[in-house]
Amino acid sequence: TPVIGVLALQGDVREHLIALASADALARPVRRPEELAEVDGLVIPGGESTTMSKLAVLFGMLDPLRERVRAGMPVYGTCAGMILLADKILDPRSGQETVGGIDMIVRRNAFGRQNESFEAAVCVDGIEDGPVEGVFIRAPWVESVGAQVQVIAEHGGHIVAVRQGNALATSFHPELTGDHRVHALFVDMVRAVR
Ligand code: GLN
Repeated sequence: TPVIGVLALQGDVREHLIALASADALARPVRRPEELAEVDGLVIPGGESTTMSKLAVLFGMLDPLRERVRAGMPVYGTCAGMILLADKILDPRSGQETVGGIDMIVRRNAFGRQNESFEAAVCVDGIEDGPVEGVFIRAPWVESVGAQVQVIAEHGGHIVAVRQGNALATSFHPELTGDHRVHALFVDMVRAVR
């Protein structure tokens, strides 16, 4: 059984732990480099990307995260986590670092403010038995991707899910629904690497 961590500096950690467990992974929170070293894959949750990036620096996690992602550890980012996996942010706040790993430019809060949050059915390549329920909360979208990046979902003409090698990212939050097919897809990615 793959051991999958959830970066537990800030954000909706608990929901991801539950979703991963129901997708047959051993899920555990990761806060320290020693904990990161012990997992086969990592989820970076939704939350607030600037805060998360500052906490990653404070906890000495930014470089270890960059190194493991560069070394091919499977990683899945939702919403703020997608922003952390972007090689470039369109309008970064000051001091906002990213882990990187996906050759893409993301636009933060692209779908509008908190009160413009919405749900929509999203068809995801690789998930064949019907669309997933996309929960978008001050969600980013992907402005552009490099040649190595596979676009696996769009909504309203904007890219909302991508994959590059062992890195997966969605603008939306499958962990907030009862449907754990995206997590199952990620668990399969982790299994394939082990
Ligand atoms: N807008 C947030 C950010 O920039 C992301 C929101 C979310 O993760 N639900 O980090």
